[in-house]
Amino acid sequence: MLTLKCPYCGVDADETDLHAGGEAHLTREGPGASDDAFEDYLFMRENPKGVHFERWRHAYGCGKWFLAARCTTTLQVFGTYPAQTLEPPQDIKDAISAQRPGWSWGNFK
Ligand SMILES: [Zn+2]
Repeated sequence: MLTLKCPYCGVDADETDLHAGGEAHLTREGPGASDDAFEDYLFMRENPKGVHFERWRHAYGCGKWFLAARCTTTLQVFGTYPAQTLEPPQDIKDAISAQRPGWSWGNFK
């Protein structure tokens, strides 16, 4: 079972206490965006076999949204952080690099 630590209340929450919110760190496109950019924003998502960044909500806890870095094949969690963070904290990127040398995800390495 997937267990994520909520960065707000510090609880180790099982996935049954959480609600998945899809991919993290999406670039939101506005009305001035090209059709291709807006289509990518609406429909195109990463589906990696490995490191992934996701949005989660502590639904049966504090109710807040947060972000998690984890491996989709092993369920190893590299860390969680507040949803207002624009990119993964350096300590989480370092933890991923230690476990998965040469990883990359979108613009993050
Ligand atoms: Zn919480």
